Amino acid sequence: MDLLIQNGTVADPSQRIFRSLDVGVKNGKIVGLFEPGAISAESAKVRIDASGCLVTPGFIDLHVHVFEHRTELGIHADLVGVKQGVTTIVDAGSTGSRDFQSFLTEVVEKNQTQVLLWINIASQGLCDGRSELSDLSMLKPDETEALINQYPVIRGIKVRMSRSVVKGNGLQPLVIAKKLAQKVGLPLMVHIGNAPPRLGEILDLLDAGDVVTHAFHGKEGGIVDENGSILPEAERALKRGVLFDVGHGSSSFSFRTMKRAKELNVFPHTISTDIYCENINGPVFSLVTTMTKLLSLGFTVEEVIEASTWRPAKVLGLSNEIGTLKEQTIADITILKMIPEPITLIDSENEKMVGNPHLLVQYTIKAGKVLKHV
Ligand SMILES: [Zn+2]
Repeated sequence: MDLLIQNGTVADPSQRIFRSLDVGVKNGKIVGLFEPGAISAESAKVRIDASGCLVTPGFIDLHVHVFEHRTELGIHADLVGVKQGVTTIVDAGSTGSRDFQSFLTEVVEKNQTQVLLWINIASQGLCDGRSELSDLSMLKPDETEALINQYPVIRGIKVRMSRSVVKGNGLQPLVIAKKLAQKVGLPLMVHIGNAPPRLGEILDLLDAGDVVTHAFHGKEGGIVDENGSILPEAERALKRGVLFDVGHGSSSFSFRTMKRAKELNVFPHTISTDIYCENINGPVFSLVTTMTKLLSLGFTVEEVIEASTWRPAKVLGLSNEIGTLKEQTIADITILKMIPEPITLIDSENEKMVGNPHLLVQYTIKAGKVLKHV
């Protein structure tokens, strides 16, 4: 074996496993999970002592912005990827069809982190500013379709449905994106924010498997109405199988909204950061910090790990490869510790809370290659 991870607690929601097991890796793949001590340490080239740690599938972040140098938001992919315990990141609409080839050569091919993308329905993506859907002539669904058919690195289509993005175009960009998504059989990731368009009208256009990011923002017109009830359209969308994603960002995650939603049994399906250069130094910091926030809001560690591994893998249609520690899958592994010390957490509304314990990444293993963080 190339690598043996010993003495840790394996937390793999894809197999409903949460107990002491050793993990073996060879040729960049998972060999298997073994009873503690069943494989002799001498049989492995490299050993990691994961005592007191959780050993999980490599984290997957469904919403990041990593088109560095081409967009004002863009941050270096590995910085928010393997350097933070995240083995797969999905850029959410930084590029559209126009700059896709540059994204491929400058980002996807240049980083150790696996970079996938939601391609922006606007051909210029976020490369010319953040009102990309205000001019419908910039939407080129035929060109986008051709790229989707050729490049499996594209896992879905991004459409940002808020006032400052669509200007006077209302629901039209979403209708165009939805038509293409149905044609190519991929999900949409829909950003929600300030109306118009009204959230209810947006949600009514979504189907099972589509992802609503920034679902728990604290702005007016969100999923929780002014009486503290869940919006009827949101309830219907959840019943149909529409997926609510965190997408924290600079202004899109509110402890208050999340607490109320949880009381109403509305939970995030996936945890993502919407991390970029303006929020990596707060309030977002990292995926593991975002996970700590959900943990501190009362979700279990198993739930938080599932929402950052197995579930995003399924959203991406890649659950046979990543988000799991099943035999023969890619050896993407995150080793983390629950630190029993308080940490101050801050949301996008500048509200603070104390988290205890908090999660801290110790090692990232990408396709069998080990990175030590502490
Ligand atoms: Zn974003």
